[in-house]
Amino acid sequence: MSDCVFCKIIDGEIPSYTIYEDEYVKAFLDISQATPGHTLVVPKKHVANIYEYDEKLAEQVFSRIPKIARAIQKSAPDILGMNIVNNNGELAYQSVFHSHFHLIPRYSENDGFS
Ligand code: ADP
Repeated sequence: MSDCVFCKIIDGEIPSYTIYEDEYVKAFLDISQATPGHTLVVPKKHVANIYEYDEKLAEQVFSRIPKIARAIQKSAPDILGMNIVNNNGELAYQSVFHSHFHLIPRYSENDGFS
């Protein structure tokens, strides 16, 4: 989609710090780091939200998440937990309407994310 910020990141029109990329997904650092290492996993195919996933896309995206989460977790010894968050719809605080999963490393109860 021409006016979608994540499509532009996928196409390389907007810079991002890539964590992982393959045929189906791209994972990159969130521009607003809830905690250090906060990563977004997005399907390369533009879908607005979870309701637009078919089984094939679900398999392509969901199967990558544990691998990416593990890589982030292994990147720093002080990562003690991780929140995985997916917002769907404005009421649920979705602000970018290209589906994405937040992987938010947790360091302590007071690491800034609640
Ligand atoms: P929220 O803004 O409430 O977190 P979303 O779940 O839709 O809503 O998350 C969109 C995320 O996209 C935000 O965390 C935001 O910081 C991130 N974001 C927006 N633009 C960029 C960008 N150019 N590069 C990386 N992350 C971005």
